[in-house]
Amino acid sequence: MGTGLDPDTLGMMLEAITEFAVRELPDARLIELDEADEFPEETVRHMCSEALGVQLVFVEEDYDGMGGGAFDVYRVCEHLAGIDLGVATSVLATALGSDPITVGGTADQKKRWLTRIADDGALFAYGATEPQAGSDLAAMKTVAVPVGPDGAATGYLITGAKQWISNGGVADLYTVLALAPGGPSWFVVERDTPGFTHGKHEDKHGIRLSNTAALFLDDVEVGADALVGGVEGQGLMQAQLVFGYTRLMVAAFGLGAGWAALDRAIPYSVERIQAGGPLAEKQGYTHKLIVPHAVRLEAARAAIEETASRIDGGEGALTTEGAVAKYLATEAGNAAADAAIQALGGYGYTHEYLVEKIRRDVRITTIYEGTSEIMEMTISRDRWQQHLKTRGAYYHDQATELEGLHRRRPEVGAGTAALAHHALAEVLEACRVGRLTRNQHVLLRLGQLIALAEGAAAFARAAAVALDGATPPKAGSRLAPPALAAASRINARDVALAVATDGVRWVVGAGGAGHLATLSSGVLVNEVFAAQDGLLADGDLVADHLYDRA
Ligand SMILES: Cc1cc2nc3c(=O)[nH]c(=O)nc-3n(C[C@H](O)[C@H](O)[C@H](O)COP(=O)(O)OP(=O)(O)OC[C@H]3O[C@@H](n4cnc5c(N)ncnc54)[C@H](O)[C@@H]3O)c2cc1C
Repeated sequence: MGTGLDPDTLGMMLEAITEFAVRELPDARLIELDEADEFPEETVRHMCSEALGVQLVFVEEDYDGMGGGAFDVYRVCEHLAGIDLGVATSVLATALGSDPITVGGTADQKKRWLTRIADDGALFAYGATEPQAGSDLAAMKTVAVPVGPDGAATGYLITGAKQWISNGGVADLYTVLALAPGGPSWFVVERDTPGFTHGKHEDKHGIRLSNTAALFLDDVEVGADALVGGVEGQGLMQAQLVFGYTRLMVAAFGLGAGWAALDRAIPYSVERIQAGGPLAEKQGYTHKLIVPHAVRLEAARAAIEETASRIDGGEGALTTEGAVAKYLATEAGNAAADAAIQALGGYGYTHEYLVEKIRRDVRITTIYEGTSEIMEMTISRDRWQQHLKTRGAYYHDQATELEGLHRRRPEVGAGTAALAHHALAEVLEACRVGRLTRNQHVLLRLGQLIALAEGAAAFARAAAVALDGATPPKAGSRLAPPALAAASRINARDVALAVATDGVRWVVGAGGAGHLATLSSGVLVNEVFAAQDGLLADGDLVADHLYDRA
């Protein structure tokens, strides 16, 4: 990862993407390509050429790229997803496919392959998933058998199959995960290598503009220099290293697609007259179909931006924070797109208005790059360890920090977010005492509550920074500081209520009824209910801002 673009360069890139999209991917063409189930190869190659150069953001400067950081990549991915998630996926696949080389390749390998992305616009595909190995990659069967005289591997013969590979039928280069004698390893395979074929373009529910295909490898011979990093057995570690950052890319997809849906619903509701007035003026409409989704999306944005800034600041891969961001943003994007169909009524259900396409497209974001359930597991396992290591203090400590923020900035809902964190600590402790995480369902539900609580904390911090007038120049917030603060208050209320009520529910539901008395007082349920005061007024404030009538 590079050190990052300056704000002007990022701004120019985002503008150039918009201009490109207006010219080459207007709504009518998107509908046509979606209906024809067609990958617009020429358009995507054009985007990754001098005409636009979007691929350069993902490549380090040493290899002729622009050296975008995690924050830049998030902004570009959000922007691409707002145009078309299939096209965005094709660009993502190149970044993803080259990531094992970026994190694990030798200097020669980086020079050889990364410069091909920057200079020639080469498209990559990332071949990890197999028919029998999806979430559980360790179950993979593709093998790489060393060949060469006297045990010295001068090359490998790769045999196996890969499933659901983005750019699978159209890429120039492929990174393929295979089991070598030393363990899972990444190999770079050129498209026309003998024995290497691909399946048909899959007929999918959504992202129909993205080419997805199976890969088949039958004694595909590659040189020893195709082994990424030159040492066997590094593959899963290399895949893990890029997760914090690639999950942020998919998080940005959920965010961009969710906002794209709301950006169609909001103007529609201004024009659409029912019962004597525009839908935009009906509180039962805006406060159900628009406001809560803008709130959830902006909470997710705060989690994405905080994680991206920390990655760029050198804090490492931050895989758990990346998982939190992906989980929140993709679930919020799905909910927003679904609500947008409802917001357009019968029109929303037709192809012409595009919200149903966005709904189908965004559906993939909770599946690829780790499903939502795998995110819940990842988040829960990591934070469970923190809870144990700190003897239950982890979330109480976070709550104390939020209480400090609340004293300084009472407008941002940090006090309510603190209630969520105290409740979380109590629920985790009841689970520890009752040994309830033996139930996988409890473990995964805790993952959801943890993600919500951490998102609420990130949102309160971002809203405070905005009120301080210190929003980072590359930030992408859609709300002005007072509306952002109101949105953060709404989100903190939702999250505190979810943690307090669902948390107790899962403890009792898993046989922990004996903890009920301690828990009911520990989760401060009355305070959580009292904190709901002002909920509708804040909804009005956010709606007024979204409809430009503030
Ligand atoms: C359009 C598309 C593009 C893709 N692009 C790529 C690509 O470019 N490269 C690539 O390598 N892969 C790609 N994938 C694959 C994608 O990453 C996998 O589909 C995903 O990881 C899930 O694996 P699976 O489909 O085998 O589902 P499974 O792992 O079988 O999961 C099925 C369901 O079970 C749940 N589940 C799984 N394990 C557990 C568990 N232990 N506990 C509880 N629940 C569990 C999952 O959450 C899910 O809901 C793509 C997939 C699609 C559909």
